Amino acid sequence: MNRHLLSAADLTHDDAVLVLDTARELAAVSGRAVKKLPTLRGRTVVNLFFEDSTRTRISFEAAAKRLSADVINFSAKGSSVSKGESLKDTALTLQAMGADAVVIRHSASGAPHRLAHSGWISAAVVNAGDGTHEHPTQALLDAYTMREHLADGAGDLAGRRVTIVGDVLHSRVARSNVLLLHTLGAHVTLVAPPTLLPVGVATWPCEVSYDLDAPLPASDALMMLRVQRERMDAAFFPSEREYARRYGLDARRAALLPEHAIVMHPGPMNRGMEITAEVADGPRSVIVEQVTNGVSIRMAVLYLLLGGAEPA
Ligand code: ASP
Repeated sequence: MNRHLLSAADLTHDDAVLVLDTARELAAVSGRAVKKLPTLRGRTVVNLFFEDSTRTRISFEAAAKRLSADVINFSAKGSSVSKGESLKDTALTLQAMGADAVVIRHSASGAPHRLAHSGWISAAVVNAGDGTHEHPTQALLDAYTMREHLADGAGDLAGRRVTIVGDVLHSRVARSNVLLLHTLGAHVTLVAPPTLLPVGVATWPCEVSYDLDAPLPASDALMMLRVQRERMDAAFFPSEREYARRYGLDARRAALLPEHAIVMHPGPMNRGMEITAEVADGPRSVIVEQVTNGVSIRMAVLYLLLGGAEPA
């Protein structure tokens, strides 16, 4: 494992499988009445969130606490200092406080790389979502969830077919998933309107389609992305209704999936837009499980980055 987790591309095949296997062992702790291991006692984990988050922040907090680390939540939102200065000043403060790991979410793509490679801090840096760039622990928890349902919880995802649908342009979840799923041997198809695909997507290790119905019968997992209206500065599609009609998942479309296929969403959902409530709450949906698995994945990542030589 690298010293930091900044991109899904930092993980080799063996690293990724190690994180998934470790998470599976640690998941047992979350099922107990006393959800605590002494592993990271005395270590300090700082959650540095410059951008809103519900599940990612509390997931990292729960993960660190279950490993007995001291957790400091630093919500830097609303700071009036310019981004570069503010990040540096904050980093120096964290260094002075003796942070062992910094979990950072920032609206600027690349902020975690800056923090990790600036020399400002000596802590391990975990990217918890940077701009439209990457969200590697989301990709790991998604891979974990797929592995549980599609590969009996072991090995990699070789030969599995994953379809990722929607606002790829603004999605750090999509990029991290494509990279990690490729490393794990899965075939990925991205489906989006041409206006919501990033420049250079042709060089990504996946296929691209504009038609959602076509890949469904061969998909093992279908991941719906949130339409990220807060990042949209222009009209990327004619209307919400039109978007839902062409790229939304409803019961008719879900019925085109094979029997065993699972439906995923990283949250937060726009119910009625990219996914109907009926499908989101339906029997194929593993959306709530994704949240549960997120805690185990983040425990594994913190464990492996901070101390991981000894067995869990
Ligand atoms: N929660 C995910 C993220 O932070 C997905 C989303 O916001 O749409 O990237």
